[in-house]
Amino acid sequence: MQNDFFETRIELLRNVGPQRGQLLNTELQIFTFGDLIQYYPFRYEDRTQFHYISDLTEDMEYAQIKGRLRTFEKVGEGFKQRLTGTFTDGTGSMELTWFQGITWLEKHLRMGAEYVLFGKPSFFQGRPQMQHPELELLNGTNEKGGYYQPVYSVTEKLRKKYIESKQIALMQRALLEKAYPLIRENLPTFLLQKYRLVAKRDAIYNIHLPHSDQWLHQARRRLKFEELFYNQLRLIKQKVLRRVDYEGQIFKSAALLKIFYDEYLPFPLTNAQKRVIKEIFADMRMGRQMNRLLQGDVGSGKTIVAFICMLLAIDNGAQACLMAPTEILADQHYQGLKEFAELLGIRIEKLTGSTKKKARALIHEGLLDGSVKIIVGTHALLEDIVQFQNLGLCVIDEQHRFGVAQRAKLWEKNKYMHPHILVMTATPIPRTLAMTLYGDLDVSVIDELPKGRKPIKTVHRYDSHRLNVFGFMRDEIQKGRQVYVVYPLIEESEKLDYKDLMDGYESIVRAFPEYQVSIVHGKMKPADKDFEMQRFVKAETQIMVATTVIEVGVNVPNASVMVIESAEKFGLAQLHQLRGRVGRGAEQSFCILMTDFKLSKDSRTRIETMVRTTDGFEIADVDLQLRGPGDISGTQQSGIIDLQIADLAKDGEILKVARECAQAILEADPNLSAEEHSMIREQIDSLKTNQSNWSRIS
Ligand code: ADP
Ligand code: MG
Repeated sequence: MQNDFFETRIELLRNVGPQRGQLLNTELQIFTFGDLIQYYPFRYEDRTQFHYISDLTEDMEYAQIKGRLRTFEKVGEGFKQRLTGTFTDGTGSMELTWFQGITWLEKHLRMGAEYVLFGKPSFFQGRPQMQHPELELLNGTNEKGGYYQPVYSVTEKLRKKYIESKQIALMQRALLEKAYPLIRENLPTFLLQKYRLVAKRDAIYNIHLPHSDQWLHQARRRLKFEELFYNQLRLIKQKVLRRVDYEGQIFKSAALLKIFYDEYLPFPLTNAQKRVIKEIFADMRMGRQMNRLLQGDVGSGKTIVAFICMLLAIDNGAQACLMAPTEILADQHYQGLKEFAELLGIRIEKLTGSTKKKARALIHEGLLDGSVKIIVGTHALLEDIVQFQNLGLCVIDEQHRFGVAQRAKLWEKNKYMHPHILVMTATPIPRTLAMTLYGDLDVSVIDELPKGRKPIKTVHRYDSHRLNVFGFMRDEIQKGRQVYVVYPLIEESEKLDYKDLMDGYESIVRAFPEYQVSIVHGKMKPADKDFEMQRFVKAETQIMVATTVIEVGVNVPNASVMVIESAEKFGLAQLHQLRGRVGRGAEQSFCILMTDFKLSKDSRTRIETMVRTTDGFEIADVDLQLRGPGDISGTQQSGIIDLQIADLAKDGEILKVARECAQAILEADPNLSAEEHSMIREQIDSLKTNQSNWSRIS
């Protein structure tokens, strides 16, 4: 009965109807009453008090004033046309100006009438004024003030059809009158009490129509807790379930591994590398399937860790695969691992989109009969035709380019017993985010760089100093080093970016006639890209001009200078990744961030952060603060983060509590079969079956 109510189609709501209903469907994905009621405001205007004109100050975000519209008139012609008016409240007068909607305003405004005015005050020659204020005729509801006006985001198209935030607010009000008593609690009483949370229906009511500051705060806290609690519960439950359900191959013997350790290890492992290897080995010996995330900053040495883990699998009669997001990366991994593998007499192959048909068939065969022990590749590995004799370990590099579905596909490559999975990422993920994103993975972190690395020196230079920068590049090249010059590539203005890149390339060719310059960008054929890349790797060229295609994983130890053009256009995570391309050899490396003189506040923060620190986790934290979590590399595509109200950048505390709470409950009652957990169980089940999610609230 109640469920039916929330599934009612939105056009049946008072004052909505088919046309506006259709718009809500297409513009905001609001189809039902349940969808609307879960469409929360993104901010609130404080309409609790009235201000006087004489009390206005420049730093006020908004002011609400009761007064009279004395006069208004149209002035100017054409583009300059505007509507100006005079507004008084007995303490002073101010000028109002509108540049848009003039015809409509002229028709509807009433000279001499009393209004409630709302807007941001500013000052001109000491006199208060407002541009585009909202005016509402004084009436029984607004004259008392004392409320918060919710602000809903609407699209341009909705605005054109006169569905603005205000109209959404009216719809919410109409809906809540009926819905309020039907909203069911979905957190058990013991939790509400323990964490002092308000009831679901009061939270929903107050999120739309807050009674007070206090209520609003409580409503948000309650809804955030609920969201994060169920998010964590689900993730942890998956993890617990997997533990019970999926057996894993047990890898115990380590003959080859010992040979490698004793005779061929090219450098002593860092303590962090040793620690994560121990963690991974423990998983692979336990008899349950491993799903582990290996985080390690660029250059921290994840590849050798992966190889050592592969050896353990091979030592126990299994095969291993390594999947990389691009052809170039796959090739680099292949070249690196081949050196080790050959020392030990292990057959290793590479499989990518460009592998020739004949070679491909041989590889398929070798994988099936078990003679190929290690296969390195791209998405090509996922094809159904790729079958193994006994796949024991899958390593996935740079996880954020692969989705969960692809992980699952690899998993199915061994039908008898799922392979262990090790996901490697160089994107440092702040703890709060890692918990949410990878709640279903165990996490190992390499938090130490190999010894002897000199920290990269990072500086910020304005475009006007380009000649100096060229001079510096020349000095370094004369010392035998190589240089990257990277240009941004932003899809919306691809043409412009491309022009920048080409202009930059030409000016560099002109400035460095004595050196060879490579160029690599997204419009080139993969084979050409590869060719240029290889020339640079072999040091046949000294300067590599590129777009961000070189962002991930490429390793050229002799390249020690990274110049990033228009650095303000890059996100922090990307800047950090790019910088990680240098500092791989023994030489002192440099990163030069080039920008325009004019920088936004956020851009400045990003540049300053890069100059200040090379710590990936610190950078990730700043990134999270600046951008919010939705945007952090790949999380968007992954679709795992689907939070409506909680904000991972700000709600770390609530997340922590919610997670601990979920953990404690599942530890005590893994199947949620206890009577007191029945409500939680139902909620989880309904989340599982219900795509449109309205059931969260009923
Ligand atoms: P990433 O974690 O970014 O994938 P790599 O595995 O490519 O890093 O390692 C970066 C470089 O550091 C490689 O040249 C590798 O040989 C080297 N390296 C890895 N571990 C160590 C170590 N313990 N000591 C010295 N050099 C190391
Ligand atoms: Mg790597």
